[in-house]
Amino acid sequence: MPQPLIERYRDSLPLEPGDPVVSLNEGSTPLVEAPRLSERVGARVWLKVEGANPTGSFKDRGMTVAVSRAAGRGAKAVICASTGNTAASASAYAVRAGLRGAVIVPEGKIAIGKLAQSLMHGARVVALEGNFDDALTIVRQLAERNPIELVNSVNPYRIEGQKTAAFELIDELGYAPDALAIPVGNAGNVTAYWKGFQERGTSPICYGFQAAGSAPLVDGSPVAKPETVASAIRIGNPARWEEAMNAFNSSRGRVAAVTDEQILDAYHWLASHEGVFCEPASAASVAGILNHGLPTVEGMDKPETVVCVLTGHGLKDPDTALGTAPSVINCQNDIGEVEAAVFN
Ligand SMILES: *Cc1c(COP(=O)(O)O)cnc(C)c1O
Repeated sequence: MPQPLIERYRDSLPLEPGDPVVSLNEGSTPLVEAPRLSERVGARVWLKVEGANPTGSFKDRGMTVAVSRAAGRGAKAVICASTGNTAASASAYAVRAGLRGAVIVPEGKIAIGKLAQSLMHGARVVALEGNFDDALTIVRQLAERNPIELVNSVNPYRIEGQKTAAFELIDELGYAPDALAIPVGNAGNVTAYWKGFQERGTSPICYGFQAAGSAPLVDGSPVAKPETVASAIRIGNPARWEEAMNAFNSSRGRVAAVTDEQILDAYHWLASHEGVFCEPASAASVAGILNHGLPTVEGMDKPETVVCVLTGHGLKDPDTALGTAPSVINCQNDIGEVEAAVFN
């Protein structure tokens, strides 16, 4: 039987006895071996396909815990700022819990699938004239002034839920991978993986990747106008800055930047060579190891097992896919023409 993430890892999660389990059977996502990618980088590479979560991104892991706790505390509504996936997830889990949902997104900057999800789940969707960082500032103030639960990754229960992805890696491989490659936006996810690894007494090298036009952790200072095709990581001032840097430093990893071109190349390559369609932001993890090589640590062997976290599903952002993929072949209703189109 599929199991809610909260049941699978209840002993490691800080829920109260009376909290309801608000779940869509998230987690337990596929860990898919990537033979062609492995060949290219010279290590055994696995893909953690987080797009297989109920709303199509890893955000569901944090949301099940944050919304369960919010409901247990008697909250009547949840709110978040979002580049799209947090909005989709919060909207769905709010419905499950019978709470009202409100999401604030940067106007014109979220992938169309994510917008469709939030609207279908009946959340109040506000498009802000501003970027993600502006939206986060506003929801933080709103949550202070009103009885509404903030479910961004500044909420500690989000991190608690998301750390279960690290548990799954260890449980399924039977050991911790030598290295983790992960896209970094607001930096909650890398914070969560590192917490999960540490709680299991392991310390894989954490290698984070930001988009070059939106790389505050690489630059060492906030980016006022972040730009990248990878809208899920278009964030100029990560809320989990310190924790993320601690994960990179403590694990002897690092954070590096990948260009939009490198991201889109990896995005297409994965879809056409491994059969896995992720969203552009997710492909930053693969673009990272392809362009920067595997992380090496002095005095240690080269990593043998590497996990790339594919944070969200490719169907979230059909505009980017169709805008950069080969075109459809139009054809008359004629066997000869179709034959030519298929085989030439
Ligand atoms: C949220 C998100 C990220 C970034 O995760 P952070 O915790 O903000 O660093 C990356 N990829 C996708 C698809 C996301 O939805």
